[in-house]
Amino acid sequence: MRIDVLTILPDVVESFASASLLGKARRSGVLDIRVHDIRDAATDVHRSVDDAPFGGGAGMVLKPEPIFDTVDRVDPPRPLIYLSPAGPVFCQADAHRLAGGGGFSLLCGRFEGIDERVRAHLVDEELSIGDYVLAGGEVAAAVVLEAVGRLVPGVLGNLESVADESFSDGLLEYPHYTRPAEYRGWVIPEVLRSGNHARIERWRLAQSLARTARIRPDLMEVRGGLGEDDHRLLDEFGLEVDP
Ligand code: SAM
Repeated sequence: MRIDVLTILPDVVESFASASLLGKARRSGVLDIRVHDIRDAATDVHRSVDDAPFGGGAGMVLKPEPIFDTVDRVDPPRPLIYLSPAGPVFCQADAHRLAGGGGFSLLCGRFEGIDERVRAHLVDEELSIGDYVLAGGEVAAAVVLEAVGRLVPGVLGNLESVADESFSDGLLEYPHYTRPAEYRGWVIPEVLRSGNHARIERWRLAQSLARTARIRPDLMEVRGGLGEDDHRLLDEFGLEVDP
């Protein structure tokens, strides 16, 4: 899958995309991540890509020409997504959607953001990584690259872990434990050593339900709340969801 990133800080994105999981996927050819420096399209000796806003006000704005010219030159895969705090918030469903497509591109803003004509006439959609403001889109690009990249077939060894994790079924994931079974006096739940796989599955679902109801009531609401079976399951393991 080809993913292009347009930025004025290519080293930041390049270094992230060369490490660990993404780096390995790039080297093996599963992911073709191409990072483009918007400054390469600047035409003056200072390689300027920003200018003062019309109408006055603080900060600088990324000019339209170098962004349009970069897109004309590299023909990045679509959709071209502008990373912006004003976009809809990126979620696991977006990650699955993008991982299931044929490729996409990310445009990183800086300063006060991009000239509105880029947003209106070049960009296909916008995504925010959360309700806070970063100095630039590079960290947001790293978030999207990793969240999507790990879902692309062939990137992660164990596909089961993707099917089972938080958000995959609208619930947060259950707790995990590994050896030793007792650490500093804290013993793992006995059910996990019972060998009774059906009971382990029920315990895990009960933990997911309780955790989601406690920590993310918004997700629980989308799911339609807790049903009678859910309450029975919580009772079976003595779990309470009220704060
Ligand atoms: N003036 C803009 C506003 O108030 O919406 C904020 C611009 S921000 C300082 C500079 C760049 O950082 C943005 O163009 C965007 O690319 C990126 N950015 C900041 N916060 C982000 C977020 N939560 N999600 C995605 N990108 C973000």
